[in-house]
Amino acid sequence: MQCNVCEFGCEIDEYSRGRCGTYVCAGDTIVQDPGMGYLGAYPVSIETIPLLHYYPSGKFLQVFGTGCNFQCSGCVARLLASDKPLSRSTLIPSQVVERALQQDCLGVVSTLNEPAANYYLFRDLAVQAKEQGLLAGCSTNCYFTEETLNKLGQLVDFMNVGIKGYSDKSYISCGVPSSAPVFRNISRLFDMGVHVETSVVYSWGNETDVIKVAEMVSDISPTIPVQVMRFIPFGDAPIELEPSVGEAESLCADLRKYVDYVYLFNSPGTELLNTYCPECGSLLTEREFYGPMGSRPVRPWVTYACDCGKTVSVKGTTTVERFNEEGFMGGYRISRAFGMVHGVLTCLGILDDSRLIDVWREISDSGTLMQVHHMIQQPYAYLDFVRLIAEKANMPEKGEELISFIRTRLELVKALAAKNSNHKVYYCMGSPLFALNAGRMENNLVTFSGDVSINKQLRKEGKPGVNVSPFFINEHNPDTIFISGFLSRPLDEFYALCREYGIHADAVKQQRIYAVPPSWDFGSPRWILGLMYIADKLNPGNSGIDLRKEADEFYLQFYGMPFEEATPNRSFHRPTSGIWPRHFLRCTHA
Ligand code: SF4
Repeated sequence: MQCNVCEFGCEIDEYSRGRCGTYVCAGDTIVQDPGMGYLGAYPVSIETIPLLHYYPSGKFLQVFGTGCNFQCSGCVARLLASDKPLSRSTLIPSQVVERALQQDCLGVVSTLNEPAANYYLFRDLAVQAKEQGLLAGCSTNCYFTEETLNKLGQLVDFMNVGIKGYSDKSYISCGVPSSAPVFRNISRLFDMGVHVETSVVYSWGNETDVIKVAEMVSDISPTIPVQVMRFIPFGDAPIELEPSVGEAESLCADLRKYVDYVYLFNSPGTELLNTYCPECGSLLTEREFYGPMGSRPVRPWVTYACDCGKTVSVKGTTTVERFNEEGFMGGYRISRAFGMVHGVLTCLGILDDSRLIDVWREISDSGTLMQVHHMIQQPYAYLDFVRLIAEKANMPEKGEELISFIRTRLELVKALAAKNSNHKVYYCMGSPLFALNAGRMENNLVTFSGDVSINKQLRKEGKPGVNVSPFFINEHNPDTIFISGFLSRPLDEFYALCREYGIHADAVKQQRIYAVPPSWDFGSPRWILGLMYIADKLNPGNSGIDLRKEADEFYLQFYGMPFEEATPNRSFHRPTSGIWPRHFLRCTHA
């Protein structure tokens, strides 16, 4: 029988469950695999889905399952996308709705994995949510057939459509023949009155394609917001595909010629998460970076009209009392928690994705996730995190091996710290004006090295940090600045920004700004290398640390490859982009 959910039109029979692997035949109909349910349900604010012109600051229950009909390189949620239905306990729609009501959410939203792979499940969820007066929506690649879309459009209130690009080539790289059904569907949803926002990935070299997307969206309606997702290379994607924040900002300026509202994500410190009046350019509301694909309003957006008379198209009312997510919660941030567990499992030699899902299930209750969130912020507490994961994975000896490696190096840096001269250090992410939270691991690495983190003076918190003024940096005058290894910035762009913002701290004058290597300071056990990197930079010429030798030992012992052969990207668990590991037939992603 042919599945009619999406344009692939797979044949489903006793041997085939379709491309997304989540459907089966039951007599003469196709149904959702009975093992299918939602793997998680957490309250989040709508700007983390992200939707920026819909019930601003509203609290929604985010749900996710497994399966996807696309296969995109570098997918942030690849593990969820690639996994098959779970023969484990999951949430059914009625339980999700109950949770949404209990937690005072405005509605439910399916994210992270593709709802086309969970269509019947999602349809039931939307129906039951609406019966209870809740809103329902999703993030989707929108490759549905016309027939499915017409039905779905009557059930959902809002959608964020993730567009891969304009050209068929951009879709072919996800194993999909054409972009045409996606634009057809956006147009139809808009006509049906569904609130639609679009997101498009900008990876280095696809500028023309992104501009063409803006033109196509504009043809449907220039009022549809276009969210530009600066590509962060996870999975096997090479780091060369990552555009700098500066390059992404410049592309956004071009897109504004076509559509009224362009937003830039994955770019800490950017002003392009704000809403500006399309008529006169006045600032209407401010937002800041809030983790991958996420944003947060700096203050409630209550007036949707500009002084010049122009009204911004926003659906729904603003929730004035902002909801703050705990720990890892908030849109795609949960996928980073997955990445952190994956990072440890890889070092324990576990490369089977299904073991990750098993371990995840054991720690995914909100209480344990909160404990984990604390463990990963302090060097010694991280050892408890390794022990926890090793125990859940039934690999205690391998866990102790990793702990022993880290502990030995911690002692080494501790000895150095005792004779340190208390340098003042500032730690930022992507921009000089985006400061990492005081309690973050990166700042704790600085204090562990015996130095003073000026970030500890911050009186506010975000995820993973907050926008600060140049005054804050100049006032505290750091001797050294580190740029996070997760979201970075080329040094020439960084120095130029310091000049532009009037940042004249000693670190800038003495050229003591360093970009920490990818994933060497947070999320992956490789932070121990980052700690040694920091200690080495703060004790120039006399740290006694041979960083290359240490990195080589770590990579050989825990990844089975020499450091010099690695071409890292932003993945927490993979030591290198491209094909890895060579001695295993199965390639892991995420
Ligand atoms: S939803 Fe899945 S099974 Fe159905 S046509 Fe699409 S890829 Fe194939």
